[in-house]
Amino acid sequence: MPCSPTRSTRACQADRECTYTPRFQARLEAANGARPVRLNVRACAHHFGDAAQALTDWARARHITDGCVTILVIDPPPCGALPEPPSDRRQAPAPGIAFTTIPLAG
Ligand SMILES: [Zn+2]
Repeated sequence: MPCSPTRSTRACQADRECTYTPRFQARLEAANGARPVRLNVRACAHHFGDAAQALTDWARARHITDGCVTILVIDPPPCGALPEPPSDRRQAPAPGIAFTTIPLAG
């Protein structure tokens, strides 16, 4: 049985109501002083822009300008994968192919 949007157990993290399978990851890689900052948000095709905006807003609110947000195309989780807490944005980055990078400064 193919994956369907409503049956995915690892749904989009960019919108709590969204049940679509994430196909993208917005990845913040920055430095807050000497401390590295890395956050990842998996999102569907409808919400990957929202995920990128949320990460840049998060960094801007903390005056973090040394870094970037990269949007990657990722493989969807397999059907039947274990649920993932939607608020855990410090998960391991998913392997993927980067298609754009947005600098925080500017
Ligand atoms: Zn979504």
